[in-house]
Amino acid sequence: SVAAPDIRLENSFARDLEGLYVAWQAAEFPSPSLLALNDDLARELGLDPQWLRSPAGVRFFLGAELPDGATPIAQGYAGHQFGGYSPRLGDGRALLLGELTDVRGDRRDVHLKGSGRTPFSRGGDGKAAVGPMLREYVIGEAMHALGVPTTRALAVLGTGEQIYREEGALPGAVLVRIAASHLRVGSFQYASALTVAKRDETVLQRLADYAIARHHPEAAQAEQPYVALLDAVTTRQAELVARWMCLGFVHGVMNTDNVTISGETIDYGPCAFLDAFDPGTVFSSIDSGGRYAYANQPPITLWNLSRFAEALLPLLGGDTDEAVNLVVPVLDTFADRFAHAWRAGVLAKLGLTESDPEADGQLVQDLLELMATEHVDWTSFWRSLSSAARGNPAPARDAFLARDAFDAWAERWLARQPDADAMDRVNPIYIPRNHKVEEALTAATRGDLAPVTQLVEIVRDPFTEQPGAEEYAAPDPNGGKYVTFCGT
Ligand code: AMP
Ligand code: MG
Ligand code: MG
Repeated sequence: SVAAPDIRLENSFARDLEGLYVAWQAAEFPSPSLLALNDDLARELGLDPQWLRSPAGVRFFLGAELPDGATPIAQGYAGHQFGGYSPRLGDGRALLLGELTDVRGDRRDVHLKGSGRTPFSRGGDGKAAVGPMLREYVIGEAMHALGVPTTRALAVLGTGEQIYREEGALPGAVLVRIAASHLRVGSFQYASALTVAKRDETVLQRLADYAIARHHPEAAQAEQPYVALLDAVTTRQAELVARWMCLGFVHGVMNTDNVTISGETIDYGPCAFLDAFDPGTVFSSIDSGGRYAYANQPPITLWNLSRFAEALLPLLGGDTDEAVNLVVPVLDTFADRFAHAWRAGVLAKLGLTESDPEADGQLVQDLLELMATEHVDWTSFWRSLSSAARGNPAPARDAFLARDAFDAWAERWLARQPDADAMDRVNPIYIPRNHKVEEALTAATRGDLAPVTQLVEIVRDPFTEQPGAEEYAAPDPNGGKYVTFCGT
């Protein structure tokens, strides 16, 4: 057996933010087993993968055998879900086990999802199924490899029990999620309401100070630290959504409780990557209005940041003109910040560095229009452009019926002498293709983990051609509209 390591789980959130959580325990599970372990991330956290694989490691993950002093908690938060406000969401099926300091010295949350009912569960069972928890693992690893700030799975455990969903009985699972923190816009909405109602007058300030210290320490030096916090989060979120847009990522459930203060992507429920490019693309079955469609993600991010700004108002003098005049100029910077990050990202995809902003903008816009008209496959088309830059236009050209239109556009672009090698460093070959994700999760639900393991291996190295992996680089040969579902 492997000696139990000296793991120190800290609990700064529990210590500093009384009023925003309930101390709680994970449910007991009949026969837990390890379905997936992220060795690289374990090492980054200073944990021994071999020990994590042992029965004691599994008990640690499930919160059944915690180090001394650990205080698992269910966090409270509110949130606007599809525009409608819920004052009390919170960890209805999750727990913060504690915090670890990683090998770089950064504090990271160790969090369970699917760990049983809590005081925030409302009508839910507190549980999660194998498929969706492995989806978090696959997409999180892909996003990380693609250079997107993201929460990541350290492990996925089978619980040994069945859970009941619309589609019937499913094997249960727990995700062990690592995040820079789980502070959300919804955490601020929750604390703000407690402060306004005078149920806890200090909690909003304690939360804001905690967020500054943990994520945006430079804001503490500003004349108006809470305005500087808004400013820092606005920058991070503008950069984050620009990265999503460049990769064709559709988050699918950008509710304010799923928007982090750290700027990491969180909650891989109904998310998916574009195949055929259409700016109006929606994958989620419940997003009938298209609120979280691909092209709506930047304005929705601003909408969410506006809810964050509102939540901060009590710290700036309340609902007064003076307070509003402090936050509005910050929100007004979002459009430029997003445009700047998007332009830099998309020019990098084209192998260009900016010269003439107007001409560059037109070049990009004309290409996107061509791509949208012909529903070109987002990921493979961008990758094929580097061949065109190397003198072989066929793979890119063949994506279009209107070849003349593409040729005319390509002539303008090639005149700018794009850097093909630089393009191959930002345009992935491999993303988690929707049909490959479904295939792998269906197999895992049946008990066959090999396809998930292979998919994770491929998406972890997205920019390098991997022999024998052609089918992972192509859209679904059977086409068809892809639909995702929330929350199972
Ligand atoms: P999400 O859609 O994952 O962002 O979750 C939204 C809210 O629903 C959060 O408060 C979750 O804790 C809660 N929730 C989702 N699924 C369940 C479940 N099976 N049991 C209890 N609460 C849940
Ligand atoms: Mg969520
Ligand atoms: Mg979810």
